[in-house]
Formats: sequence, C-alpha cells, structure tokens
Amino acid sequence: MSDAPPKMIPDPDGLNAEFYQNIADGTLCLRRCADCGAVHHPPRYLCATCGSEQVEWSAISGKGRIFSWTISHRPVDPGWAVDGPWATVVVEMEEGPRLVGGFRGAPNEALELDLPVRVVLERETESFGRLYFTPDV
Ligand SMILES: [Zn+2]
Repeated sequence: MSDAPPKMIPDPDGLNAEFYQNIADGTLCLRRCADCGAVHHPPRYLCATCGSEQVEWSAISGKGRIFSWTISHRPVDPGWAVDGPWATVVVEMEEGPRLVGGFRGAPNEALELDLPVRVVLERETESFGRLYFTPDV
C-alpha cells in the first residue's frame, strides 16, 4: 500500500467540465460544427471556422500521432511523484486538433515524433477523467 498523497482532481467549469465529464463517462469527444464540419479544441460555443452556433459534442477516433512531449522529473503536485519521471504528450488527433495527455504503455524512451498513439481514458470521479496516450501498434 502506497502512502503517496492523492493526485489533485481539477474542478473545471463550462465546456471544459463537459469535456472531462465525457471522459469520465468513457468517450473522448470534441466540439464539431454541424454546418461546416470543423472540429475544435479547446471547446468553444461558436465555430472558430464559420461562426456557426450549431456546434455539438462528437465522439472522435481517439487516434493520433505524437506532435511533441516533455518529461517531468519534479511534480508540482506531490501526488504525481510516484509516477515520475513521466511524459506529457501533445497529440495531433486524426480529426486535426491537438490534445494534451499523459503517456503510458511504453517507456519514455519510445517517444518519437509522429509515433502513432491511441487514447486511454481513466475515470477519476463521477465527473472527471484523465486522458493518456499509448502506442498504437
Ligand atoms: Zn463551422
């Protein structure tokens, strides 16, 4: 049994709360414009491409490629100390937007630009989930 402190659970609001609620419910969704089809992130009420108000949550593939990453050795939140050093990745999703998440399922040395990855969703509470990416082989 670990005596590490628990990880801080963020308390997002507005559309960000809806984004993380969807993750807690097991689906990765981004905002998609019903008029022009554009997909955006971070979530917005209006389409950033055409200005339409007809923007809704839409499940996406969960697949993408590593765009960038950083390795953290010292956590700001002590709850993450047991996981370090860990990688935070920026993934360009098949649908276009880039998402930030943790990296799992392979050592940090496996990270390379354009590495194919898929999302792994982890429910933390009733209303908040974290997203991670793992190599998609
Ligand atoms: Zn649009």
